[in-house]
Amino acid sequence: MTTLTKEAGAPVPAGEGAFLSVRDLHVSFRTEDGVVRAVDGLSFDLERGSTLGIVGESGSGKSVTNLTILGLHNPMFTTVEGEILLDGKELTTARESELEKLRGNKVAMIFQDPLTALSPYYTVGRQIAEPYMKHMRASKKAAWERAVEMLGKVGIPNPRQRAKDYPHQFSGGMRQRAMIAMALVCDPDLLIADEPTTALDVTVQAQILDLLKDLQQEFGSAIIFITHDLGVIADMADDIMVMYAGRAAERGSVAEVLRAPQHPYTWGLLNSMPRLDSDPHAPLAPIPGTPPSLLRPPSGCRFHPRCTFQDRVGGNRCVNEVPLLGPDRSSACHLTAEQKRTIFIEEIKPRLG
Ligand code: SF4
Repeated sequence: MTTLTKEAGAPVPAGEGAFLSVRDLHVSFRTEDGVVRAVDGLSFDLERGSTLGIVGESGSGKSVTNLTILGLHNPMFTTVEGEILLDGKELTTARESELEKLRGNKVAMIFQDPLTALSPYYTVGRQIAEPYMKHMRASKKAAWERAVEMLGKVGIPNPRQRAKDYPHQFSGGMRQRAMIAMALVCDPDLLIADEPTTALDVTVQAQILDLLKDLQQEFGSAIIFITHDLGVIADMADDIMVMYAGRAAERGSVAEVLRAPQHPYTWGLLNSMPRLDSDPHAPLAPIPGTPPSLLRPPSGCRFHPRCTFQDRVGGNRCVNEVPLLGPDRSSACHLTAEQKRTIFIEEIKPRLG
């Protein structure tokens, strides 16, 4: 179970016993046009064996957060402030050699496009075996056997034979399975899956999601699942964090957030999702406007230029004052709890059907 924390301002104490504890994380990049504030005061905890779904549009900071946890940002151009405690170890100040040891061993990542993770020059089996040899100090033979075993676990038929194939000899769905095998080969405690099924057709997508759930049960890994698709989150996650323009907009359990979402951005995301029971010819209702540039993000609530509810707050608070995320179930919005409840029930829910 993840824990909800204050989104901006003073860091809160690390969650007791949390396997991953992120506190008041700020990540910015220097570019030719100025400083991009990609993540701005993010805090969350994640326990072993549970899944946190992070949802948001491109540029919301969800992928940057996770690349920073993995230490895959370029330190020449990136400034990281705050705390990332993984199993009690502070990662923001860790040496590259320590991070290298963690990656593949304690933490692994599944990317959207397997071709970015798989080299075309080596067999699939060798690419799965290599991290096992390196991190588990296994012999070549034992690592190869492990690679064959993992290919079998992720549902590749005839794995002993297919381990000798190159990635181009695999279909898209099989490559994704091979990448999952590679990510899980060292039995990581934390798995970060960044849009792992976006490029796949719906049938293969459902198979991969089922596979991830089964493997999580078997390996007991904590999972951070990054996606723009709330439907996938509903299927996969225990908790949701909705991100907008580098900040957490809303946090809670999947049941709480999907049954009674509180933030106007989450309402917009739900409203823009196609539904199985809706008229397939009816136009979708995208959130008006576009995500802001993080070179010069909007003042106050970063969602205010796109929000149709700011007049209900009044006093220009939305433009001038940053809304904070409270403890536990929470949304970073100046509307009162009663307003959020009433607007959702009377105005949003009827549109969602
Ligand atoms: Fe909309 Fe204001 Fe709430 Fe931001 S704080 S989501 S602008 S109502």
